[in-house]
Amino acid sequence: MKLAVYGKGGIGKSTTSCNISIALAKRGKKVLQIGCDPKHDSTFTLTGFLIPTIIDTLSAKDYHYEDIWPEDVIYGGYGGVDCVEAGGPPAGAGCGGYVVGETVKLLKELNAFFEYDIILFDVLGDVVCGGFAAPLNYADYCIIVTDNGFDALFAANRIAASVREKARTHPLRLAGLIGNRTSKRDLIDKYVFACPMPVLEVLPLIEEIRVSRVKGKTLFEMSNSLPTDNSIKNAVINQNDYICNFYLNIADQLLTEPEGVIPRELSDKELFTLLSDFYLKV
Ligand code: ADP
Ligand code: MG
Repeated sequence: MKLAVYGKGGIGKSTTSCNISIALAKRGKKVLQIGCDPKHDSTFTLTGFLIPTIIDTLSAKDYHYEDIWPEDVIYGGYGGVDCVEAGGPPAGAGCGGYVVGETVKLLKELNAFFEYDIILFDVLGDVVCGGFAAPLNYADYCIIVTDNGFDALFAANRIAASVREKARTHPLRLAGLIGNRTSKRDLIDKYVFACPMPVLEVLPLIEEIRVSRVKGKTLFEMSNSLPTDNSIKNAVINQNDYICNFYLNIADQLLTEPEGVIPRELSDKELFTLLSDFYLKV
């Protein structure tokens, strides 16, 4: 199964991706996560360091695919999740779609592309061009990360439009939204009422997640490095389990191969009217 995780910049795509990857691995799946953001930090909390990107490795070897070994570009991460970073096109030049295409091509040459039960693409931003929509060409499901705010839902709506477009020629479905870093969900609910799609989970802002990012670990791994004091230790275990369960729940939903939807996105005017009191008044 191939998954593509999309959402506005900084919304929590990589955090969500890493934790879903581990959750799927915990369910016995062989998982590869491919970071497709020029920020190339998608897999940071899985490996604990910034791994070399495919594009850097290819250019160091003058694009001689035959000189590249799987261990040059595929790194083992926490929980048995394998990790790849596609890297970025040169800033102001090049194309994100080309980078993703080269990555898939190389993984196929290395016989790695069809070796996994799950490949998760963690993709930059709000799909403003066909290049960054490229991972949708390989995906069975798109997952959108959003918060309860206008900007992330605006991006979500554009991603929904891309899924609708790609689904015309390819068996792609939108698995649904994941609400992240929000305790409220009124705007998310308004949006999915107008543009029906599942909401897989809604996660609050969790201080431990922010801290775990700084430490280069996921919460699954943090549960293994606990304070020695028993009472504090138990409290931390309970809290971490509570958070990890959000991700295990998402993984379990995906493993049922849900029907998903082919969304019918809203027009910009409909979206502004829906999500903004101001627009309702004028
Ligand atoms: P993206 O990949 O969408 O650019 P990241 O996953 O890198 O975003 O997340 C951006 C920042 O937000 C990171 O520092 C991360 O630790 C933090 N973060 C993500 N989700 C949460 C959450 N639910 N609670 C608290 N902090 C979060
Ligand atoms: Mg990211």
